[in-house]
Amino acid sequence: MLKISGEALAGDRGLGFDFSTIDRIADEIQTVKSTGASLGLVIGGGNSVRGSQLSKLGLDRVSADYMGMLGTVINALAVQDVLERKGMATRVMTAIRMEELAEPYIRRRALSHLEKGLIVIFAAGTGNPYFSTDTAAAWRAIQIKAQVIIKATRVGGVCSADTQQDAHAKLYRGASYRAVVVACPTGRE
Ligand code: UDP
Repeated sequence: MLKISGEALAGDRGLGFDFSTIDRIADEIQTVKSTGASLGLVIGGGNSVRGSQLSKLGLDRVSADYMGMLGTVINALAVQDVLERKGMATRVMTAIRMEELAEPYIRRRALSHLEKGLIVIFAAGTGNPYFSTDTAAAWRAIQIKAQVIIKATRVGGVCSADTQQDAHAKLYRGASYRAVVVACPTGRE
């Protein structure tokens, strides 16, 4: 399972799409596929809408999260198009039904697509507000019995601060669940 953040699709722009970056990611996906591995993708939406940020501007959090999930579907269609132009067979499956443009997520059907060698792009996250596409990646990975989850993002891992804003942000090489809970007892972001 490969999780690609929305920002990864935006390249250096931060917002929207950078098709040369998506093209490069697609080439890497093709290399992985050529090893014979089954491959599922979960695509984020941070290049357009993050619910938590929009809700700080006054939008209802649930509506903002649904907007974020719709953003992941737009991204999934963009990635699908680029992958298919390179000859890879794909299916987009959404956690929120929109059958005119993508299949609804049905686990057994996802497994069948993967067995046939199709790349399955899981869109719309978990389908629920107050979650993230990282959660969706872990959740879908368990359901499809993925052996590996890889996250493609703009930072090297979990850091002590936002690396874009703090040049001294420290990268944590590892952390136990307990250490995270103790460090962040109120569950702040
Ligand atoms: N989102 C959500 N539920 C989910 C997945 C995503 O509500 O299961 C919304 C949430 O608002 C989130 C946005 O979609 O901020 C985009 O997803 P995410 O922030 O995970 O994207 P990424 O950071 O990977 O680009």
